[in-house]
Amino acid sequence: MNPRALKQRLESLEAAGVRQLPKASDPGRLPTAAAKVRGIALSQPSQAAVASAAADDRVASLRLLAEEVAGCTRCAELAETRTNTVFGVGRPDARICFLGEAPGADEDASGEPFVGRAGELLTKIIEACHLRREDVYILNVLKCRPPGNRTPLPDEVAHCRGYFERQFAVIAPEYICCLGTTAAQNLLQTTEPIGRLRKRWFTYGTAKVICTYHPSYLLRNPAAKRDVWDDMKVMMADMGVDL
Ligand code: URA
Repeated sequence: MNPRALKQRLESLEAAGVRQLPKASDPGRLPTAAAKVRGIALSQPSQAAVASAAADDRVASLRLLAEEVAGCTRCAELAETRTNTVFGVGRPDARICFLGEAPGADEDASGEPFVGRAGELLTKIIEACHLRREDVYILNVLKCRPPGNRTPLPDEVAHCRGYFERQFAVIAPEYICCLGTTAAQNLLQTTEPIGRLRKRWFTYGTAKVICTYHPSYLLRNPAAKRDVWDDMKVMMADMGVDL
């Protein structure tokens, strides 16, 4: 990295609140295996330090954004009725993000996405893909629970759009898996139904996007689990993992 680029990098890290960089020789801070999984070539200690700093950078940026979300009052009704905002959970440098609709009662109570019955099913789907919840990043279109779990209103999505867009900008995932109609239609800005969005690849920034049914739909229609499994096999095969 040339000195000017390095100076800019350090200034942007400082702006994000990163005051200290790890030593290049600190094995605990050198995610060599993780970096390989992400396809980062770590040939020099200085590159390793930059990769590690980039991970810190993502953590700091997400933390700042989460604080902003926690204080959000753009949707008066949601801000009044929520117990917690539900920002997102998982690896800040995840290759895959799973995008859901909005928190339900369990998520509102805990502040974590997908922890209720639908969440348990999502965790099983992730594990069936030979991954763990902590290997991926899970977020929703809305960060607050709509009362009675109603579908998010267009205004609410418009208020929240900037938050999930900034999460994706920080995480820079290679794959986004949209869970259900609300996630797929709002990420891709389309009105096509989920049934027609499945089995196709889309792009969002540099990420490849795949759409599948929402786990809540699977709880009501277990026969559709086979379709979701087919979608997961397509995504994982594209990542080089045979299921
Ligand atoms: N459904 C969602 O879309 N998101 C959650 O976090 C929980 C249920």
